[in-house]
Amino acid sequence: MSIYRIDQPFSKSRLPGKILLVITLLIASIFPLKLVPSAKEQRPGIDGQLSAKQGEVLWVHVPVGTLNPTKVTGTFLKRNIPFIQESSTTYVGLLGIDMQDKPSLHELDITITTEAETKHRSYTVLVMKENYSVQHLKLPKKKVDLDDKTLIRVKAERKEMMAAFVSISPHPFWEGPFIAPVKGRISGRFGSRRVINGQSKNPHSGEDIAAPKGTKVVAMNTGTVSLTHDHFFTGKGVILNHGVGLYSMYFHLSKISVKEGEVVKKGQIIGQVGSTGRATGPHLHWGVRLNGSRINPYALINLPMKS
Ligand SMILES: [Zn+2]
Repeated sequence: MSIYRIDQPFSKSRLPGKILLVITLLIASIFPLKLVPSAKEQRPGIDGQLSAKQGEVLWVHVPVGTLNPTKVTGTFLKRNIPFIQESSTTYVGLLGIDMQDKPSLHELDITITTEAETKHRSYTVLVMKENYSVQHLKLPKKKVDLDDKTLIRVKAERKEMMAAFVSISPHPFWEGPFIAPVKGRISGRFGSRRVINGQSKNPHSGEDIAAPKGTKVVAMNTGTVSLTHDHFFTGKGVILNHGVGLYSMYFHLSKISVKEGEVVKKGQIIGQVGSTGRATGPHLHWGVRLNGSRINPYALINLPMKS
């Protein structure tokens, strides 16, 4: 059951542009930019710094000149961001802004390792607040107020799921632009604050796409199957590993069509829409995790990707 019908995956910020501009300029004058990025898709802020809303993704290009690094890594809010070589003079990384990262200026610290030395570069990233909605849901009491046995089960399942995100391959498996796994109405928005049976719960970490039971679910891009499971909350689910710390999740399926370890191509059927686990009706919960950050899956579709 969904209370809010949302047709647009993103809402406009309520903060008027002029106020935002003044605030940004004020902040920027206090914290000067240490390195000015050049690429267009980096979405530089007003003073040239990087900026993104909660739940969004940034491509960050790091010019390395003639350093010829052996490794380039980033650290953002204690999360490690792997960088991959783009050209002989540039490295690139996908920086995810978690749905709950504090709206503020944060530092992205880049470590460039060469055979002779280690260099650091610093980017300033302005995280802007997203206006998340509130979603009220009513569910059977036993699905919300869990007994001890279910609590133990849920804890073990959470551990199993977190283990599925551990592997970070040095190269991406994805190919070209990302695609939506199923077409349908958004019945539960990413980031919405959830009130279930009157109790405030964790915010929603994916997008719920309502579709009839049995609708084919396809992989948003090429990757390997990191986990297939049947859990209390997420029901039958598939987690795909797309490399360099990017994972996609497909939950509440009625049928799973892939096996763990299998290589899955973009657009390949991985299962069917269902309502397994804690669900109020047939829908796909589509989630994306990028190096520990929970991001809006639609943010990936909007990324400029080379085919
Ligand atoms: Zn969901």
